[in-house]
Amino acid sequence: MADQWWDQLRRDVIDCNLCTQCGSCVGVSQQTLAFKEDHGIMLPIRTEKSGQVPEASYRGCPARVCRYPDLNRFVFGKLPRNWLSGVVEGSFVGHAADESVRRAGASGGVISAILIHLLETKQIVGAVCLQVGKTVPYRAEPVIARTKEEILRCAQSVYSVTPVNTILETLEKEEGPLAYVGLPDQVASIRKLQQLKHPSVRNIAFILGPYMGTQMTFDAIRSFLRSHGILSEEEITRLKYRAGEWPGHLEITLKDGRVLTAEKFHYNYLIPFFMTTSSLQLPDFTNELTDISVGDAWSPKYESRRGGYSVILARSARATQVLKDMRAQNLLTLEDVHLDEALAMHGHMLDFKKRGSFIRMRWKPVAPDYGYRPTSISPARVFVEWCLRAFFAVGSLRISRWTVEHLPMGLVGPAFNLLRKIWKGMTKTTKRKGLRETEFEVCSPR
Ligand SMILES: Cc1cc2nc3c(=O)[nH]c(=O)nc-3n(C[C@H](O)[C@H](O)[C@H](O)COP(=O)(O)OP(=O)(O)OC[C@H]3O[C@@H](n4cnc5c(N)ncnc54)[C@H](O)[C@@H]3O)c2cc1C
Repeated sequence: MADQWWDQLRRDVIDCNLCTQCGSCVGVSQQTLAFKEDHGIMLPIRTEKSGQVPEASYRGCPARVCRYPDLNRFVFGKLPRNWLSGVVEGSFVGHAADESVRRAGASGGVISAILIHLLETKQIVGAVCLQVGKTVPYRAEPVIARTKEEILRCAQSVYSVTPVNTILETLEKEEGPLAYVGLPDQVASIRKLQQLKHPSVRNIAFILGPYMGTQMTFDAIRSFLRSHGILSEEEITRLKYRAGEWPGHLEITLKDGRVLTAEKFHYNYLIPFFMTTSSLQLPDFTNELTDISVGDAWSPKYESRRGGYSVILARSARATQVLKDMRAQNLLTLEDVHLDEALAMHGHMLDFKKRGSFIRMRWKPVAPDYGYRPTSISPARVFVEWCLRAFFAVGSLRISRWTVEHLPMGLVGPAFNLLRKIWKGMTKTTKRKGLRETEFEVCSPR
């Protein structure tokens, strides 16, 4: 018997290489779908369970059709004034006032501090977030954190792709209200399911999310291990992607007691080799459909102060109120910053998403429908994207990955960081020129 929604999901999303691995299709599939890992890439497969894959597995998918204009109207009742940021009611830089929360976090511990506040003021009874090492030391899995301690166990960023929304399977039966933390595609899917009034998202009352530039497959960690002569991830007893002083470092503790580390900006050498296709595809950097989104406050002013600073965008009146309440109660140290200043901290990444993604989409045999696009992109900017395309294509070759694993680690990270800075310097004018002035147009459904 035909399995309509599975056939459609396969044809429109999986076979077109558009799946972002958010986890929703599996989460709402009533066990008719599962994930199978292939070289760090998680792909939905059909299980043996009889019956049809539910319609929500297809309709809730954010990979092929994810019309931001419609979703903005649904969530905020309006379109963004600024398509680089999405709807923003207030922009801030700050950190958790409690130093232990701040230090536990990836940047300023702001997401964790907000979750703790929402929990302690009984605005939520739990929060969906991601915990590394709950069952397997190196794996992240979505959990519902119901205490301050459980929230802090989930603090920090997980840079290996993890389909958080598989947890939707259990949410329908959970008591609410709940907060939810996810990446842009995961959040977009939650919003699509809320539009559909799907029971699995009924209890989600507040959505937070990190900015997301790039994400890697778990093969990045395997490659890093091989560079150190470790052949299996089963040797790992603890994995932290951003340990220690901000901006933090990758820290892997092994069964034999050794601790492997790499500075954040050195560990980034793995990005060109193991970046997910969804990082290249998604045009949403600042997690535009959340109530509050949070990134690193990359600015010499804050970096020189050290300790950890986050840039925070509040997108709804309720979100702004939560931040203001927390500031008044000395739970968050918050400085108001102009949105332009907040966006200037991430000029390169905004360009990578708001122009780069749309150029890259033109090269796809089947492009996703995000419902808007830049009205024009200069030929110089398209040329930069061709250079990046060639670079990533070389990076994805097995021989390139093999070579980098066999170069001395002490050289690779710093050399990559130097190259990154040179490239950023060389392309700064082309990439930033006109970015703020870029005009976007809403387009009709395809
Ligand atoms: C894959 C990825 C890419 C990123 N890229 C950028 C970037 O390019 N520029 C930038 O400024 N910031 C980026 N960030 C955001 C940044 O790393 C911090 O997450 C953000 O500054 C919030 O820090 P915090 O200290 O306030 O959060 P914390 O208090 O540390 O809380 C973080 C919360 O996010 C959840 N979380 C962590 N990883 C994931 C994940 N993979 N999926 C779903 N939930 C998760 C945690 O469970 C936790 O609840 C990225 C984050 C991720 C996960």
